[in-house]
Amino acid sequence: MEHTVGFIGLGIMGKPMSLNLIKAGNSLTVFDLNEEAVNSLVEAGAVAANSPKEVAERSDVIITMLPASKHVKEVILGENGVLEGAKKGSIIIDMSSITPDVSRELATVVMKKGVEMLDAPVSGGEPKAIDGTLAIMVGGKEPVFESVKSVFYGMGKEVTLVGDNGCGVTAKLANQIIVNLNIAAMSEALVLAAKAGIDIEKMYQAIRGGLAGSAVLDAKVPMILDRNFIAGGSIAINLKDITNVMETAHEIGVPLPLSSQLLEIFHSLKVDGKINDDHGSIVRYYEKLANVEVKRG
Ligand code: NAD
Repeated sequence: MEHTVGFIGLGIMGKPMSLNLIKAGNSLTVFDLNEEAVNSLVEAGAVAANSPKEVAERSDVIITMLPASKHVKEVILGENGVLEGAKKGSIIIDMSSITPDVSRELATVVMKKGVEMLDAPVSGGEPKAIDGTLAIMVGGKEPVFESVKSVFYGMGKEVTLVGDNGCGVTAKLANQIIVNLNIAAMSEALVLAAKAGIDIEKMYQAIRGGLAGSAVLDAKVPMILDRNFIAGGSIAINLKDITNVMETAHEIGVPLPLSSQLLEIFHSLKVDGKINDDHGSIVRYYEKLANVEVKRG
């Protein structure tokens, strides 16, 4: 089925995702508070709208890719928001990483107006957003999911319906625990190896084919050795996610001893002025503790 697609939130992730939707042949209407981001999409063939409401009036599928719960709530339910312009039967796909509570609440409100909703957060970061190979985890009704599958495959490679509304963002919380604790574990290992004086590149080559090998190792070790901490997935975004993880876990009675330590590491990095750096910067927390830098031999 052909769709007219709207895209709101053209940041690190939203910009390449929307460019890929144009490449896949979708006609796209876009909105962002950042004019520069809008202009680069218009140059690529998108139409600029003046508000989320206008995006919704011009589209039957409206995608949001915004920082956090409060932005998504404002853009969908606020004045001149998506819901004011959305037609009956339109589908809102929120691809931001927000709390399951807010996601379910939004779905309930929009469905009362005859508008459908899916939560569809992503994993893979900026590189996979650019390549169009994101992992997309979806929550919502199966027929709604089936009707927009072609839109998802314009941005991602692995697209999975996890369950009902809220299940996509819940899977994303689990994903964020695994990714960030992986980076923390890798950081402890790298700092140990650096202080012990072994060649980090050789160690990386030696272990990457074994059980310690991972997508995190392959993505982050080269960045750390290049001392490249440009986000990517920023400390700010991941601090937000792990805060959401802890809140959600405590609400449903799940203690998370490792994630709670991770949250404190993120707060420490924030105080240290690294809030906008990539989450690979977790290594710099450990470097400070051990007074050593992880670098090429
Ligand atoms: P970003 O800060 O780069 O982009 C957010 C965009 O939203 C900006 O362009 C901003 O101007 C726009 N925006 C904010 N409020 C707005 C409003 N009221 N109306 C219109 N536009 C508004 O963030 P990002 O890194 O692209 O992340 C977006 C979402 O994707 C977040 O929920 C994040 O957790 C998730 N995510 C990010 C990554 C990553 O590696 N960066 C990976 C997976 C998931």
